[in-house]
Amino acid sequence: MNHDAVVMNDTEAKQKLIDAGLVLETAGQGDLTRGHISVRVPGRPDLFFMKPHSFGFDEITMENIVVCNLDGEKVGGGGRRHSEVFIHSEILKARPEINSVIHSHPDHAVALSATGRAVLPISQPGSAFSDGVPYYTDTIELIRSRDMGAGVAQALGSHKAVMLRNHGVAVVGQTIEESVILAIMLDNACRIQLLAEAAGGIGEQFTADHIARLHETIVRPEQYVINFDFLRRKAYRATGRQLP
Ligand SMILES: [Zn+2]
Repeated sequence: MNHDAVVMNDTEAKQKLIDAGLVLETAGQGDLTRGHISVRVPGRPDLFFMKPHSFGFDEITMENIVVCNLDGEKVGGGGRRHSEVFIHSEILKARPEINSVIHSHPDHAVALSATGRAVLPISQPGSAFSDGVPYYTDTIELIRSRDMGAGVAQALGSHKAVMLRNHGVAVVGQTIEESVILAIMLDNACRIQLLAEAAGGIGEQFTADHIARLHETIVRPEQYVINFDFLRRKAYRATGRQLP
């Protein structure tokens, strides 16, 4: 269990989920109401809070947050459960060190997934994923069963993210800050790569040593917090809301 999740109480964890939703919507991760994010309930690794069905990322409230168990069953909260809850429950079951999962359909990641090509470390956001982004290719359908969720978790393995071909991404983090920033960086990495490929192809690349050093710099936990807090302030400004 991550330190952050231990020291937060339920209200703080829910507020962070609400803030994460604002950040993700502002970052263009919404795809109408189809993206979702979860975080484990503090002190209860067998339960997680999740964004409700039928609402956008920027419409999460204390009241509509859904509480689910690791079988994907709703056990509390006011909102409807997303049918793709099994992406979250099965990943959280398979990865005890992970506390937050995001599933979204960001344009550039979906476009790159349609090419079937690997995410390359040809940019700073790309270098965050230099340990690889595997593909889940079983289906283009919604992940609406435990078995399908387990398939996504298996494809993800020990990585930070998995591409669901022609569908979207699942991104994980030890904290909400990590899952949110990685989800945004993955789409940025895919956008840059698509631009480079469209502009004539990838040129000479830096060596694995160079990439490994940059990777270590980019994936420091404090960087996730700094960047999340910035995007949170920016999202509050953009929406005219008062910071809590
Ligand atoms: Zn989906």
